[in-house]
Amino acid sequence: MLSVDEALQQVLAHARPRLAAKCALGLARGLVLAEDVVSDIDSPPHDKSVVDGYAVRAADLADGSAELDVLEEVTAGAVPSQDVTHGSATRIMTGAPIPAGADAVVMIEHTRPLTPAATHERVQISCKPPAVGQNIMRRAISMVRGQTVLAAGCELRAIELGVLAEVGRTSVSVVGRPRLAILATGNELVPAGEVPQAGQIRNSNGPLLVAAVEAAGATALDLGIARDTIESLRESIANGLQSDVLIISGGVSAGVLDLVPSVLTELGVRQVFHKVNLKPGKPLWFGVLSAAAGDKLVFGLPGNPVSSLVCFELFVRPAIGRLSGRGDASLVQVAAELAMPYVHRGDRPTYQPARLESADGRNLIRPLRWQGSGDLRTLVDANALACFPAGDREYPSGELIVALRLPGSY
Ligand code: AMP
Ligand code: MG
Repeated sequence: MLSVDEALQQVLAHARPRLAAKCALGLARGLVLAEDVVSDIDSPPHDKSVVDGYAVRAADLADGSAELDVLEEVTAGAVPSQDVTHGSATRIMTGAPIPAGADAVVMIEHTRPLTPAATHERVQISCKPPAVGQNIMRRAISMVRGQTVLAAGCELRAIELGVLAEVGRTSVSVVGRPRLAILATGNELVPAGEVPQAGQIRNSNGPLLVAAVEAAGATALDLGIARDTIESLRESIANGLQSDVLIISGGVSAGVLDLVPSVLTELGVRQVFHKVNLKPGKPLWFGVLSAAAGDKLVFGLPGNPVSSLVCFELFVRPAIGRLSGRGDASLVQVAAELAMPYVHRGDRPTYQPARLESADGRNLIRPLRWQGSGDLRTLVDANALACFPAGDREYPSGELIVALRLPGSY
């Protein structure tokens, strides 16, 4: 049976970044830039004041105090009309252009107007002798026209969107956002809005996977529930194969109604692997459908909600990262001390829902009480997966184990 690492490599080998597409700035957060972006401006566009105060000639304040004629007032958005000469100053507000002749700005806090009127105003200044350039941000110090300010491959966060706006971009070329269809399968399933009858349960995986896909930065398409019949599966799966990725939950184990793999094969999806050496999640199925614009990926996740979630985290999330043009999107791995003694039993590497706390630079991990992979409720307290190698073993409290941090927001 494939190891988790081998299976992941096979998944990633088929996951190529999506084609680039133009995207409006307002929709680009979280996407990856597919072009180098060049500035069309110098920033700042002029030498500008970074404080409210008086633009002066530093030499006039060599001994720290002077009375100066005020030529005019320049606020942000206005332009100076007079040059500052020996014995004069211009009142200037943050962001406004520095008048010619001035080489420093003194903060308003160090000044006192001597006349109230605006016409022949004078100001008294008393401060530490200003250095040339004091409180002035020089033209183009942040970026120069023609300079590449963002490189293809960078992920667009709020900060990058601000930079794009600064250089006048209202749309950019990005790696397309992957579209994932989610299909729950099972004769026993009813939608959340229904009261389950005898033998039935509600479809929790559908909403769980839709949310996890969206939180991973992709677009989710909820295909609802298919029944465990060839006809129902065929129709829903054919529909799901329109998307870049199809995630199916249930129907991939060894039960008599686990028909998903055979229907996928019938629809031309080539199996890459079936079954991975892990717990929970062993029945995981993965295959690809060749298409002109690149392989479509199909994940058959085991139906138990915890298995579905673990398989999503270990295999689907990294695939979404790759399709989105991001680097490694796997869960962050940390070394953590067991907060209590723990007995692990089982012949497969286990990914156990756990609570990870960090204090004083130490990571402490507490595996949650295992009620089997149908126990979604336990996951409410989980923020990590504790990793135990195959084999029965008693772990003493304080032993270091590997933990995978679940994302904070999803
Ligand atoms: P399967 O993988 O189809 O054999 O399902 C394994 C277990 O997961 C069974 O107990 C199913 O009832 C349960 N299950 C399957 N699909 C879902 C779902 N969408 N939501 C909640 N439980 C499910
Ligand atoms: Mg089933």
